[in-house]
Amino acid sequence: MSQPRPHFVRRPSAPTTKRLDYRVFRENVREDFRGTCAYCLLEEKWAAGRENFELDHFRPKSLFPHLLMSYYNLYWSCHVCNRFKTDRWPPRQLLEQGVGYVDLCASPFQEHFVVQKNGKWRGKSLSAKYTIDSLRLNRPHLVELRVLLRELALQ
Ligand SMILES: [Zn+2]
Repeated sequence: MSQPRPHFVRRPSAPTTKRLDYRVFRENVREDFRGTCAYCLLEEKWAAGRENFELDHFRPKSLFPHLLMSYYNLYWSCHVCNRFKTDRWPPRQLLEQGVGYVDLCASPFQEHFVVQKNGKWRGKSLSAKYTIDSLRLNRPHLVELRVLLRELALQ
């Protein structure tokens, strides 16, 4: 059986640069993530526009300096998710149990999360619970927006 399609499908080959500045990839990464936050899945238009989005190093650059320029380690993130994530990385005892940030470039959303009627996400896996807690993915603004957007879609 083939693997289920991940939520985000990145371009098949990474763009290259001679400059030692990962920010040159900003527009490429933005395109790969279709202008959507890799963590809370908010689209730019609901989250103060593209100026409010940042390049996140999925594996933090402070802990994985060799991945500083690695294209596929760059994720599109809203400012708030990126601020909560900062340099955080799961402690070793969690990593040893296979728990870490849910990577939606590797798996489909439904594999880890359930969207509840009240707008909150429920984690189906330990990684999902860790991700929801660490990045506050049920913060009031997000929950209100999810409910509002669902109501709009129903009209
Ligand atoms: Zn976000």
